[in-house]
Amino acid sequence: MNVVVLGAKESGTGAALLGKKVGYEVFLSDIGTIDDNYRAVLEKEQIPFEEGQHTLERILKADIVVKSPGIPDSTPVIKALQERNIEIISEIEFAGRHSTAKMICITGSNGKTTTTLLTHHLLTHGGIDAGLAGNVGYSLAAQVAENAHPVYVVELSSFQLDGMSRFKADIGVLTNITPDHLDRYDYKFENYVASKFRILQNMDAHCLFIHSQDNMTVAEKVWDMKKKLLPETASFTSSFALEDARLVDGIVDVVLGDRAFRIHKDLLPIKGQHNICNAMVAILIAMRMGLSDEAITEGLQTFPQVPHRMETVAIKDGVIYINDSKATNVDAAWYALDSLTTPVVWIAGGTDKGNDYSVLFDLVKAKVKVLICMGIDNTKLIESFSNLCPLADTHSLAEALAEVQKRAKAGDTVLLSPCCASFDLFKNYEDRGEQFRKSVI
Ligand code: ADP
Repeated sequence: MNVVVLGAKESGTGAALLGKKVGYEVFLSDIGTIDDNYRAVLEKEQIPFEEGQHTLERILKADIVVKSPGIPDSTPVIKALQERNIEIISEIEFAGRHSTAKMICITGSNGKTTTTLLTHHLLTHGGIDAGLAGNVGYSLAAQVAENAHPVYVVELSSFQLDGMSRFKADIGVLTNITPDHLDRYDYKFENYVASKFRILQNMDAHCLFIHSQDNMTVAEKVWDMKKKLLPETASFTSSFALEDARLVDGIVDVVLGDRAFRIHKDLLPIKGQHNICNAMVAILIAMRMGLSDEAITEGLQTFPQVPHRMETVAIKDGVIYINDSKATNVDAAWYALDSLTTPVVWIAGGTDKGNDYSVLFDLVKAKVKVLICMGIDNTKLIESFSNLCPLADTHSLAEALAEVQKRAKAGDTVLLSPCCASFDLFKNYEDRGEQFRKSVI
């Protein structure tokens, strides 16, 4: 079998390793420059590769192509492959075809990484040999090739799901769906929704599907499909409603089969309404995997903060500084603002992804003391919020923090939850969050 891997970062290099391990002929092609660490792996394993180009003649010899989730279908090389009906799959699909491990897969527009990390922590803390894989940063294929685990907790993006056909999630989670990445889905929300719902494909009666009941897009579609759904289902809500996991007078109440697990929300390691839901998912999975109540409680209490997601990075002179740099869309910022109970000095801005800010208006009116706009072009933010709260127009982190110094008082929270992508002033959201952290500690 002739496998061509497109893209040589974490997932592509992992797929190449797995292809080699199972005895396929592997060729890897990256249109950009390959990072030194990945190049070293390819050279050590003697896997042929090219960089800075895609040699079509070689690529079209493939029986199967493993494509990095970052490469859109509109790219000429993908079009050429599609014209010849050469199968194109994602690295997760490829790994799934060579593994019999139990796959716990988490997708959604927001909350994937947090939920994946918490689930993995609960399971490993509870003594289960679980690998951590997918969008969260570690290749599933590389682990299947070199360091196999009987269980994996896998974060799945919609792009990975698009390249999946035979893969089966033993436990599949859909956290929520709100508009995102529409540029990759012909600007049609329904295409993006369909992509997320691919998590259900191949799930059978032995599987468990965990889904939000609060997010209307998810709840309504699950309702429509209910009679046709093969897996068992478990639903969660952050309100007091009759779902499998719910919140009753501050108590997180989770029921699965004949078991119930209860914990006060203040004892959860991650705060805010959204994180209550993320924790419910992790608890449901831990229960399904047979962890004891003690193991779940201990796991919850030992979970470290997740960087760049509502991460408290400093408390100085009575002011709390929260790094939520990963909030690159409006929904994430909504949950961030909603979770805070103090006056907020809110830093937002960056590259706008066609945002509709109106859903934030009530929260901003109620909680935001000042909005510090931080971006090359703040026009849209200023137009959207100028009637609702005082604003500052800044064009660098240094300028934004100078405004913070002037305006934040003891008892306030300074929240970096930008609602926007970071590429105007920063390399990526991690860079934005790191610079914020370094500047405020
Ligand atoms: P993802 O991996 O899906 O991008 P993260 O866990 O990295 O999700 O969180 C991304 C952003 O969304 C953060 O700002 C975080 O505070 C917020 N967030 C986390 N969980 C949820 C949720 N369940 N609903 C809405 N927003 C969330």
